[in-house]
Amino acid sequence: SEKKILVSGCLFGWHCRYDDGDTPCLHPQFLKWKEEGRLIPVCPEVFGGLPTPRPDCQRTGDKVMSCAGGDCTEQYTKGANEALRLAKENDVALCIMKEDSPSCGSTHIYDGTFTDTIIEGQGLAVEYLRNAGYKVFSENMIEEVIKALAK
Ligand code: SF4
Repeated sequence: SEKKILVSGCLFGWHCRYDDGDTPCLHPQFLKWKEEGRLIPVCPEVFGGLPTPRPDCQRTGDKVMSCAGGDCTEQYTKGANEALRLAKENDVALCIMKEDSPSCGSTHIYDGTFTDTIIEGQGLAVEYLRNAGYKVFSENMIEEVIKALAK
């Protein structure tokens, strides 16, 4: 299949993390897809209007709060909608998103207490993508992605 794949910008190599860092995915198959132009990068937090660097944020119930106590729910919601828009526009087959992020986490996120505690859950952009029917995997699941694409 030559279908496109939505990916987190920080996995793609953008320096878009809250701390200005990147976390590039170096799996050989990911790099091959990148070279073939099949990856559609998105950073929901930056596309939602947040600067880089920015305060650390975590999901707490229906809201997304910063470690400084600010409510970032509006920007996270805009970013989640942007991710969904890009997925639809590019007719992506599935998504590979950065684990643990309040936007992009697909199996785990931080618990909202800013005590370095990780719980089961998903980021807001991933929630929107899944609600629209997209399959979302993390950077730790490239083998599963290869299998899913082969179907
Ligand atoms: Fe990476 Fe997603 Fe965080 Fe952007 S919002 S830095 S793409 S994990």
